[in-house]
Amino acid sequence: MRLAPPVVVVHGGAGRWRTRGVDRERVLEVVAEAAHRGFTAAERGDALDAVVEAVRYMEDSGVLNAGMGSVLNLAGYVEMDAGVMDGARLRGAGVAAVRSVRNPVVLARVVLEHTDHVLMVGEGAERIAEFFALEKRGETPRRVLERYRELLKNLDRVPHWSRVREFARLYGVADTVGAVAMDRRGNLAAATSTGGVWLKLPGRVGDSPILGAGYYAENGAAAASATGLGEYIVVYQLCRRVVDLVKSGASAPEAAEEAMEGFTRMFGGGTAGVIVVDHHGYVAAAFNTEAMPRAVAAWNLPNPVAVFSREEKGF
Ligand code: ASP
Repeated sequence: MRLAPPVVVVHGGAGRWRTRGVDRERVLEVVAEAAHRGFTAAERGDALDAVVEAVRYMEDSGVLNAGMGSVLNLAGYVEMDAGVMDGARLRGAGVAAVRSVRNPVVLARVVLEHTDHVLMVGEGAERIAEFFALEKRGETPRRVLERYRELLKNLDRVPHWSRVREFARLYGVADTVGAVAMDRRGNLAAATSTGGVWLKLPGRVGDSPILGAGYYAENGAAAASATGLGEYIVVYQLCRRVVDLVKSGASAPEAAEEAMEGFTRMFGGGTAGVIVVDHHGYVAAAFNTEAMPRAVAAWNLPNPVAVFSREEKGF
């Protein structure tokens, strides 16, 4: 559908939601509210404000795999990744394997605004958070700790990390969050944030903080945010590919479908999803998993539209 700016699209991660007993209604509420907050931020500021605000809200929700709700690595602690890109300046920045900051997306924006770097990891990134007095992360929710203990019980069934597909089949890819936006001046922005994948090896970094893989935005073209198995998304450069397809004449829905078809041919089903807004105001979501909760807010929509699975009408 073609929408009037501001336009904000968010996702709550491509995955096998049905099998994990997630409260579907709560997730839909969270993505709808994130889109709404992003829209309000775009009205007051710009597309970059919109994606940071939408992702920050989802990080704080505790029900998605980012910020407060981040999954745990094999050693039992969080290592979060996030990235944000401003299509107007064609500049993006990511942070990876951060442990103590409450909102990795806010830290990514600080790296974007206050440094010339494109990716900061671990201790160096945490120091920037301290310098800018960013809020600290609270306790990991009980739901996440319980799930970790459950998964540990089956540790002998956990395939080695060289068997990425098998790992995805057993545990699913999970609830990463992302947002894309276009403001009234036509500026495009994208942001993505995640706790990564369950039981990842400590130090593992996925696609979410990698420019072109987990996020990408370019004025005059499109903005995209990806979710799914980072090991594949990095190889495929999913978000950059979607934006390049728009640059060569595709609409957001055509670009998203074409990129995901190629992705699925290469890596199989159940592996990824992507959301897009193009500079004409067309939006799209394409995924090869069972579901991908997502929502859109725009000037010509009375309320945000939030949908969960493939079958539901919406976008
Ligand atoms: N893309 C994320 C990662 O690999 C996971 C996800 O989207 O669920 O870190």
